[in-house]
Amino acid sequence: MALSLYDTMTRSTRAFVPRDPERVTMYVCGPTVYNFAHIGNFRPVVVFDLLFRVLRDRFGEDAVLYAANVTDVDDKINRKAADEGVPISTITNRYLEAYNADAAALGALRPTFQPKVTETMDAIVAMIGRLIENGAAYAAEGHVLFDTQAFPDYGKLSGQPMDQMIAGARVDVAPYKRHPADFVLWKPSKENEPEWESPWGPGRPGWHIECSAMIEQVLGLPIDIHGGGEDLKFPHHENEMAQGCCADKVDTYARWWLHNGFLKLGEEKMSKSLGNVALAHDLLQSYPGEAIRWALLAGHYRAPLEWNGELIEQAKRALDRLYQLLVDVGRVARDNGEDLANPHAAEVTDHLRASGFMAALEDDLNTPQAFACLFALLNGVRAELMKSQPNWDSVASQRAALLQAANLMGFLEADPNAWFQGAADDDLKTRVEALIAARAAARAAKDWPEADRIRVQLAALNVEVMDGPTGATWRIREQV
Ligand code: AMP
Ligand code: ZN
Repeated sequence: MALSLYDTMTRSTRAFVPRDPERVTMYVCGPTVYNFAHIGNFRPVVVFDLLFRVLRDRFGEDAVLYAANVTDVDDKINRKAADEGVPISTITNRYLEAYNADAAALGALRPTFQPKVTETMDAIVAMIGRLIENGAAYAAEGHVLFDTQAFPDYGKLSGQPMDQMIAGARVDVAPYKRHPADFVLWKPSKENEPEWESPWGPGRPGWHIECSAMIEQVLGLPIDIHGGGEDLKFPHHENEMAQGCCADKVDTYARWWLHNGFLKLGEEKMSKSLGNVALAHDLLQSYPGEAIRWALLAGHYRAPLEWNGELIEQAKRALDRLYQLLVDVGRVARDNGEDLANPHAAEVTDHLRASGFMAALEDDLNTPQAFACLFALLNGVRAELMKSQPNWDSVASQRAALLQAANLMGFLEADPNAWFQGAADDDLKTRVEALIAARAAARAAKDWPEADRIRVQLAALNVEVMDGPTGATWRIREQV
C-alpha cells in the first residue's frame, strides 16, 4: 500500500511520492526555548517523529533528512534572561537541553538537523537581500517588510481572504507599511536587546523568515513535507511560503503541508498564554515516557485531543498488557526450553502484513487503528501460547512481528521486567534486590522461617516476586 498523507494546501489526502526517494526532506517548526515546553508542544514532536520513523522504514534511514528548528532569538527569551540576570545563552542552552531530554524520554529520535536562529543569521540576511532584489520586499525606517502584493498566492494555504488575514494578523498598521498585511523581515532591536549587522542597519529578524532561511540552508527548496501545529497555518506558514517562493523564484515551497490538531484541557487548547499547561517534564516524573507517547498518539493527529489523567492511565494499562505478554511468553518459553531469538524472517513479514499494521500507519498515520493492530498481534501470540502444544515457530514469529511493529512506533523499547519495576525509585530497587538476594540465600540454606520473614517484608513494600528457573524476578504490584 502507498503512504498517503493529508495535505493542507490541496485539502486532500494524496499518495506520498518524494521528489527524490534517496533524499526525502521534512521540516517541522520547533520550540522557542525560554521555558519548559508543555505537553501540547510535544504533540507535533511525537507525531512528526512517528512520520520520520515511517519514512525511514520506507525509504531507508539515511535517505530521510528531518530538520526541526530552535528559536533562540525572541522577546520572551530576552525577558527571562533579564528577570534572572543571566546571559541569554544561559536561558536558551538550559531550556534547549531540557527540551531535548524530554523529547528523548518521549521516544523521539533526534532530527537530522536542529538549526538555531543565532547560527543562521548570515543566511537570513542574504535571503532578505534577495527578496528586495526580486521586488518582493522593501526597506522603510530601519525595517524591511515583505510586500504581500508581490505574491499572488498569498492566502492560498490558509484559504483566508485578505481582509480576514489582516484582521487575523492583529498587527499594528505601521505608517511605513505599503499594505496592512505586509509583515516584518527585519527590525531594529530595542535598547539592551541583542542585534546583528545588516545592510538596513543593526537589528534582528522577524520570526517567519528564520524558518524560510533554515529550510533553504539545510534542505533546499522545495521540501517534501512541512509540518507544525494547526495554529501555525496563518500567519506563520503563509508567510514562510511567500518568502521562500519569492526569494528562490519557485512555485512550490513544500509539496505536502501537514498540521496537527491541538491538545485541549476541557474546552480550551493547552497554551502558555492561557496558563492551563501540564509540563512534559513534570509528567515524566510520574509516568514512563512510552505511556505519555502512547497517550499523545491515542487519537488521530489531525483531530483535537482531550488531555486528562484517564488518557495516560489508559495508555499505561495498554502498555502493561503488551509488556505482560512479553514477560509471559519469555517465561513459558524458558520453562519449555524454547528459544524465541531466531524467528523465521518471512513468517514475521507475513504476520506483520496480515495484521494490517503498516497499512494503518500508511493511511495518513492512523494511530488508533495501528494500536488495534498491535493488540491483534498480541491476541495471536496469546492464542498460540494457550494451546496444549504451542507451535513455537509461530509464537516466535508472531512475537517478533509485534515487537517490530511496536518498535517502529517507538514502543516496547524497555526490558519487560524493568517496565514493571518502573514505579520503584532507585532506593527501593536497591532494597528489593538486597531482600531477594537474602531470601535466595535463606532458601539455599533451608532457613524457611527467615525466607518467610523476607517474603512478608517484600509484600509490605508492595513487591510481587516471581520465581523462575533462572532466579526470581519482581514487579511493583498494581495499585487497586
Ligand atoms: P510554540 O512554542 O507555541 O511556538 O509551539 C511549538 C509547537 O507546538 C508548534 O508547532 C505549535 O503549533 C505546537 N503547539 C502549541 N500548543 C499546542 C497544543 N496545545 N496542542 C498541539 N500542538 C501545540
Ligand atoms: Zn516555522
